[in-house]
Amino acid sequence: MLLNPSFIALKRTQNKGQMSPDSPLRVVFTFPPRYKELDTKFKVRGRPIVFTFGNTIHNPGRIKIAQELMVHETVHSRRQGEDVDGWWSSYIADPAFRLCEEMPAHIAEYAAVCRHFSEHRAQQRMLHRIAMRISGPLYGAMVEYREARARIETGALGLLQSTDTAW
Ligand SMILES: [Zn+2]
Repeated sequence: MLLNPSFIALKRTQNKGQMSPDSPLRVVFTFPPRYKELDTKFKVRGRPIVFTFGNTIHNPGRIKIAQELMVHETVHSRRQGEDVDGWWSSYIADPAFRLCEEMPAHIAEYAAVCRHFSEHRAQQRMLHRIAMRISGPLYGAMVEYREARARIETGALGLLQSTDTAW
């Protein structure tokens, strides 16, 4: 799940041919399963939020999905595996599980940002936004900003270094 209030400022790239071949996510504009439950828990109604269930991204607000956001949702999709509904049950009920799932998604998202924006200041601005989001009220304030920011930056650096040879 992802709140994307800053999409106006993001470079718009549609994900044509940029996804890895083993993770073809499709985007639909319908509400996700369990929407009422999700709204009760996270107050998502009317907000620019997408929801991934398996290989489907539900985008009822029809927001533009930047490539780095697609990367974020792809992490969720992969980790949901065969038990999509069970994953969502844990995600809704358990903040520790939610953090364990959102951290790698946010790290992968920031790594994708760093591949797009080479300028350090632009990267730092995006790091701030991403760390604000994961530590914010949407996810139930499940982690402190400073800790989130440090973990995202370190994690993304590790990802970028491990994939350097492939780029
Ligand atoms: Zn997410």
